[in-house]
Amino acid sequence: MTLSRLAEAAPGVWVATSRRYVTTSTVLLDGSGGAVVIDPAWDPDELAAIPADLAVLGVGCVAGLATHEHYDHVLWHPDLGDVPRWSSAGTVAHLSQARETLLAPLAEFLTPDLIEIAGRLVPLPDGSLPWAGPRADCIEHDAHSPAHIALFLPVSGVLVAGDMLSDVELPMPQGDETLEHYAAGLAALRDAVWAAEVLIPGHGTVTRAPRERFDDDMRYLDDLLAGRVSDDPRIADPENAGLHEKNLGKAREVP
Ligand SMILES: [Zn+2]
Repeated sequence: MTLSRLAEAAPGVWVATSRRYVTTSTVLLDGSGGAVVIDPAWDPDELAAIPADLAVLGVGCVAGLATHEHYDHVLWHPDLGDVPRWSSAGTVAHLSQARETLLAPLAEFLTPDLIEIAGRLVPLPDGSLPWAGPRADCIEHDAHSPAHIALFLPVSGVLVAGDMLSDVELPMPQGDETLEHYAAGLAALRDAVWAAEVLIPGHGTVTRAPRERFDDDMRYLDDLLAGRVSDDPRIADPENAGLHEKNLGKAREVP
């Protein structure tokens, strides 16, 4: 048996990359046969491949974690089992209030059984992941989505960033979120980024130079807020064209 999707990003940390929007799913091994699956994504065959890969690794899923409320980060597969799926209290509360709206886009991608089990999250008991592995701290901020969490493992220096610090996606403030507000959320990740050796973004590629991602995002925001033309190479990607226009609009609204 060989792995179909997971690739090792660091000792005990495995990442699968979806065919859609370079979306990553992260698996953390607890060292005693258990695995925590973060943001499994995205198509039904890709979701099914994750528990199959865990079996190849000889581990079983003991918990899930959703970094934030967006539909592509709260998915699950029955073969991962009926285990606690953690997220921030704010994410759990908002999903329970606005489940239909938040998950509506899934109708395009998933079968009804997979939509039914999407977003079934429970709040983390405190600021860290309750698991048998090494300390894993949750860093909560409100950039990109309310009560978004990143997970930082100090021993291995692994930072799972959710939808922040991507090499393929520009900073994406949601709704009427300002660029300054987004920058404040980014700043909340600064200490973890500086301590990290490996960064796993929710969309994009794993890097061993986390500070460069942080600097790229901060420089982009600073340039827009100062009215300068950004030379960020992500702007050239047609996938980012609409987002960049929106961000320019937000920058112009600054008094
Ligand atoms: Zn998102």
